[in-house]
Amino acid sequence: MLEVKNLNAGYGHLQIIRDVNFSVNDGEVIAILGSNGAGKTTTVRAITGMLKPMSGSVNFNGQELCGKSSRAILDAGIIQVPEGRQLFTEMTVYENLELGAFSDAAREKLDESLKFCYKYFPKLEERTSQSAGTLSGGEQQMVAVARALIGLPKLLILDEPSLGLAPNIVDEILTVAHDMAKNNGISVILVEQDVNKALKTADKGYVIENGHVVLSGTSAELQNNEHVKRAYLGI
Ligand code: ATP
Repeated sequence: MLEVKNLNAGYGHLQIIRDVNFSVNDGEVIAILGSNGAGKTTTVRAITGMLKPMSGSVNFNGQELCGKSSRAILDAGIIQVPEGRQLFTEMTVYENLELGAFSDAAREKLDESLKFCYKYFPKLEERTSQSAGTLSGGEQQMVAVARALIGLPKLLILDEPSLGLAPNIVDEILTVAHDMAKNNGISVILVEQDVNKALKTADKGYVIENGHVVLSGTSAELQNNEHVKRAYLGI
């Protein structure tokens, strides 16, 4: 479904990622792993059009998206939950969720989508009229994920969903991500520094170091890889 080839991107003249290659199949969760500053967010920003790539190919279901506007990429069905959630904290939970319905199709299905999200995150239904800024970090992450789901993604990108959250909340979010891929036809890219949790959720992973993919494989292969064990799993 998604094939990223030789993707190069950076900021101004500063190139951050070099010849990044990876693919995501239908119904798959893939993990993009690496430490602080490795280039993970830059990679997803280049895919979603938040950052104009320098060169490369981002083929999504046969459509070339490299260099297209973020709106065109959203319309193609790639929706990102940004690092740090980026909610409108003064607005209510409901208003934030409603903003996810950016297309006609999503607006038509809004009520159905809300029910779908409340099934996964029942706490949000109890807090629809509460301002988003007063929610706990975990609840805010749930709003951010639900807002993305309301946009009817075919590919959902979660950028560091575990950041600053308690382990049980992270597990809840990752379980939802897994369920989206396996039972709801939404493939998932999980960008994570928590390599242990990411590999437990994902089918396969790509390790980025200094802007390069230095390792890739199934989650089991990466869990048993000596470099991954030493550098990321502390084993
Ligand atoms: P983190 O887990 O900290 O988010 P990351 O792997 O996602 O790390 P990136 O955010 O992609 O890393 O950053 C990669 C490099 O790009 C870093 O050295 C960072 O300082 C640099 N960088 C990020 N954003 C900008 C920007 N807007 N302008 C210039 N350099 C940037």
